[in-house]
Amino acid sequence: MKIYEECKGAHTIAIGGHVRPDGDCVGACLAMKMYLQKRMPEAKITVYLEKPSEIFSLLQGFDEIDSTFAKPAEPVDVFLCLDCDKSRLGDAESIFDEAKKTVNIDHHVSNARGTGMVNYVVPTASSASELVFDVLEEEYLDEEIAKALYVGIIHDTGVFHYSNTSPKTMQIGAKLISFGFDFTRIIGETFYEKTYHQNQILGRALLESILFMNGQCIVSSIDKKTMDFYEVTSKDMDGIASQLRQTKDVECAIFMYEIEPLVYKVSLRSGGKVDVSKVAEYFGGGGHVRAAGCTLNGTNHDVINNLSVHIEKQLLEAEG
Ligand code: 5GP
Ligand code: MN
Repeated sequence: MKIYEECKGAHTIAIGGHVRPDGDCVGACLAMKMYLQKRMPEAKITVYLEKPSEIFSLLQGFDEIDSTFAKPAEPVDVFLCLDCDKSRLGDAESIFDEAKKTVNIDHHVSNARGTGMVNYVVPTASSASELVFDVLEEEYLDEEIAKALYVGIIHDTGVFHYSNTSPKTMQIGAKLISFGFDFTRIIGETFYEKTYHQNQILGRALLESILFMNGQCIVSSIDKKTMDFYEVTSKDMDGIASQLRQTKDVECAIFMYEIEPLVYKVSLRSGGKVDVSKVAEYFGGGGHVRAAGCTLNGTNHDVINNLSVHIEKQLLEAEG
């Protein structure tokens, strides 16, 4: 698929990604906007996203992201839904629903069928940013577009170390860094560097984690009061679930934090034996085999009990 062919002739284009946008989501949306604006200088192109973390402000177009979700006067000609299905667009979903044409570009196995009129969903792709690279014309790439795609890819691959990294991912990475931006700084500042408070909440989550199922699973939960104490929000929780999963012999990690009283945002991580996207999908969420999420109601004990039944079942099946 070439995205220009889908957008040709459009006067207004909207681009949206998932709620609580991560690096891949922000990188894919901003890269797509930069490319299309270069290709179609006359078009009015708007990126709709909940306010992303400030670490991504080094990307061009960050300050023009519309986080008020101001509804356009007329339905847009094309809506591009990136890195999610339409139900996770948050307040942009109604703009999508009214759009004359919708395109869904995603790599979540839980969205394998796609939710657009036109769909490009490739669950084996490392990231939505890798798919954006696929659909644009390489002669339009420039340093700023390359930087945004690179940020997206490093965030969804854990800097090329998760199993979703393919030879193609590395080849794209090589092309991107050939534009000469300071990738060491970008990796450091957007992926590894944490604020003092982020490190404190990570420490707290690790300190209070509990092993179960003979050490094959680990769980940790942070309530709202604790988040307020450390002055952290959902934007500060990236990376905690993956760190829990890196405990020796742990197959599956559950990390949850309270977003409203008795409502928990859950992150699941797996070493491969458990398909956590299936577990998350059962509870109305989704994701990938090794990384998925959902939102559950109840106390943290209710949430753990509900999730662990499904995880245990898969682990027992894997053992035969
Ligand atoms: P995280 O745990 O980092 O929030 O998310 C892990 C993966 O699962 C990401 O690819 C993310 O997009 C996806 N994911 C997280 N929460 C949800 C959810 O509630 N619904 C769906 N469909 N996907 C989710
Ligand atoms: Mn992604």
